[in-house]
Amino acid sequence: MTSQYFYNIMLIISVLFGAIIGAYTTTVDYRVRNDLPIVTADCYCPSCGHRLPLHHQFPVISWILLKGRCGFCNEAIPARYPVIEMGYTVFYTAAFCMFSAQPTVFCLLWFGFSCTVLCIRGRGHTKPLIKAIFHMTIYHGVIAATLIYLYAAKAPVI
Ligand SMILES: [Zn+2]
Repeated sequence: MTSQYFYNIMLIISVLFGAIIGAYTTTVDYRVRNDLPIVTADCYCPSCGHRLPLHHQFPVISWILLKGRCGFCNEAIPARYPVIEMGYTVFYTAAFCMFSAQPTVFCLLWFGFSCTVLCIRGRGHTKPLIKAIFHMTIYHGVIAATLIYLYAAKAPVI
């Protein structure tokens, strides 16, 4: 495996993780501000309550394919959802591109960015906010440990 191949794989992981965390943040943001459980088995439409199938939950892509509306009740889905998801994707990718030689740095930037957004959006909802930050810490901790392990195993010169 060449350094360029390793870099490309890590870049794809950064893009995907940014999109997934962005989508997760929009969901958690809604749940924190409405004092709903942070972790549930299903995602559902807040308008009609219909459970959303997996293909309605892809960051940005589903919003575009569904033309910004719920696939069941046709209620408009605010444009802030794909915008936030794209923002996360761009930030996570940019942080990786700038600090790809130091996995700890870009992982900390990702984590700091996510927690800052949650704190700004969820102020006034302390208890669910703490739970949300706890979950965000777990997710970033697992992905950071995985990436740092991969870096140590590969020891790339990028
Ligand atoms: Zn709906």
